[in-house]
Amino acid sequence: MSEFPASVEVVRSLRPRGGFRAVMFDFDGTLSLVRGGWMELMTEQMLTVLRDAGSQEPEPMLRHRIVQFILDLVGQPTMRQMERLADEVARLGATPQSPDVYLRNFLRELKIRVEARMTAMTVQGEDPERFRVPHAIPMLDWLQGRQVPCVLASGTERIHVVREARALQLVPFFGERIYGPGDGHVFSKRAVIEQMMHEWGIPGEQILGFGDGVSETEEIHRVGGIAVAVASDESGGGIVDPIKRERLIRAGADLVIPDYRDALPLLHWLSTH
Ligand SMILES: [Mg+2]
Repeated sequence: MSEFPASVEVVRSLRPRGGFRAVMFDFDGTLSLVRGGWMELMTEQMLTVLRDAGSQEPEPMLRHRIVQFILDLVGQPTMRQMERLADEVARLGATPQSPDVYLRNFLRELKIRVEARMTAMTVQGEDPERFRVPHAIPMLDWLQGRQVPCVLASGTERIHVVREARALQLVPFFGERIYGPGDGHVFSKRAVIEQMMHEWGIPGEQILGFGDGVSETEEIHRVGGIAVAVASDESGGGIVDPIKRERLIRAGADLVIPDYRDALPLLHWLSTH
């Protein structure tokens, strides 16, 4: 389809739907790079836990299996990945720690990295664009200018999402519409989408979703919306991550983009078809 910009990969052609009326964004890896590298960190920690639990599996195979189950659960609360880790430990015949403990260990290490980036932005005057998926701001400006409601839905604790979104100067585009687990609230991307459909009266097919995770991609696809896979490699270099791309296509992505360099012509096209 030549009508799409060069950086947009069209996985399946889109049927006419009279444009889109609301947009849901995932946060980490989709708009924010503040937690970039979290997957490598989680993989290393899980590798250590499974080795300590007695796994004899050769390293490349074990590593590959860990990456696969991490990816399967991306977009869901991080606790799900830790529960899966506990299951794996139990399967080895060892006694797992509580998933809570695994989660705390992971978050403690991640926090050190995140805080360094937060300090760079909020204290050292680093340009937040360095920690955003490139060219997000002109796209969000465009959507705001047309009064298209945008929702931010993350599997990361909401309190962290809000703080990081503020440092990234993304809050004005979402206002109160920032969702994530926390405060004892049950959270799922499905629930957020259903809220958009039922409370705002927007048909599923007129919801546009941007995400780099399987969960939001599947949920947008399920309601017949347009699922744009942001297959960012999280380096900020605008390169498509081949593993993410393949999984997101399998999850139902309609389009794949490396970042938002061509978001404006894309949004224009989507809003008129
Ligand atoms: Mg993500």
